[in-house]
Amino acid sequence: MADLPLRPGSTLGIVGGGQLGRMLSQAAARLGFDVLILDPEDDCPAARVSAGQFVAPYDDPEALTALGRACGVVTFEFENVPAASMERLAEAGARVAPGPTALRVSQDRVEEKTFLNAVGAPTVDFHAVATLDDLRAGLERLGTPALLKTRRDGYDGKGQVWVRDPAEVADAFAAIEGRPAILEAAAPFIRELSVIAARDWDGRMAVYPVGENSHEGGVLRVTTAPAIADEKTLVRARAIAEAILDGLDYVGVMGVELFDLGDGVLLVNEIAPRVHNTGHWTQDGCVCDQFEQHVRAIAGWPLGPTEAHARVEMANLLGDEIERWSDLNGKADVRLHLYGKAEARPGRKMGHVNKVLGPI
Ligand code: AMP
Repeated sequence: MADLPLRPGSTLGIVGGGQLGRMLSQAAARLGFDVLILDPEDDCPAARVSAGQFVAPYDDPEALTALGRACGVVTFEFENVPAASMERLAEAGARVAPGPTALRVSQDRVEEKTFLNAVGAPTVDFHAVATLDDLRAGLERLGTPALLKTRRDGYDGKGQVWVRDPAEVADAFAAIEGRPAILEAAAPFIRELSVIAARDWDGRMAVYPVGENSHEGGVLRVTTAPAIADEKTLVRARAIAEAILDGLDYVGVMGVELFDLGDGVLLVNEIAPRVHNTGHWTQDGCVCDQFEQHVRAIAGWPLGPTEAHARVEMANLLGDEIERWSDLNGKADVRLHLYGKAEARPGRKMGHVNKVLGPI
């Protein structure tokens, strides 16, 4: 295994080839690294800006072995990569960051909340649900409304159903097709915030200013950052993020989604062991964006500065909103970030636009 810090010219591996991999690869290239992507989709968005691609399933043993051998460090760009794949890479002697534990914990909402509470990061009350009787018991304990979510494979609000009345239990259980689930108490939040934080191999941390997020139908629409918030809230957000990254002995960038209940009270909704959509504003609001920060962290370079030099509003371009590119591309205060996806399916993340609101 090559020594850290990895020298420019070294090769980094990314499991997953979507837009996050693409922007990671672009940041890595700027620092002189070559990137190899592992993704089953030929010519995926990340591969088109990278040095090469293994076109194979995420758990393909031969592709994983080849990737591990070729790379000074291997990372992943979305949390549904099988944790076993990253474990296999690590066992075969590859350097993997973040470690497989972070992936495993974030893949199961019950494990995730149990871990979060254990490190002092509060969440809503929850109840593990395997059967209809569990769901009834959970509802009795947590009251209505409550949110039933599949334990695994949920993202962007998929695999979730609100239970507003005990009479709805059977329908709710059917809606998630009887899969292992978690029932969550409703968080009485006044707004949603997130923290993007990084940790290096020696445990040093760098935390970006908090972002304020708005979702529609479970999908992120807009992040505005730095969020206007009182000192108590900002200090608390930072402390929560640091406890989580330390608790996982984490290396790399992580997104921590928070519910702001007011008066400095924050609950963690979920964590994403990767660069995060709510951190895209850093591309135009900070000297070192979250993508470069992740590359720096995993390659053993010093972490970059996280202060904002501008206030930014990041808006996702979903589905055919991508067609706004020709109106947006002439505006002086916006920067377009497009993902090179051929097909604009409804709701698909096609790009984002960072509007610079003004200097800090
Ligand atoms: P998730 O997929 O867990 O990130 O949930 C998607 C969105 O649903 C969140 O950003 C919130 O707007 C909402 N949500 C999720 N969990 C809860 C909860 N326990 N209480 C209230 N709203 C929630």
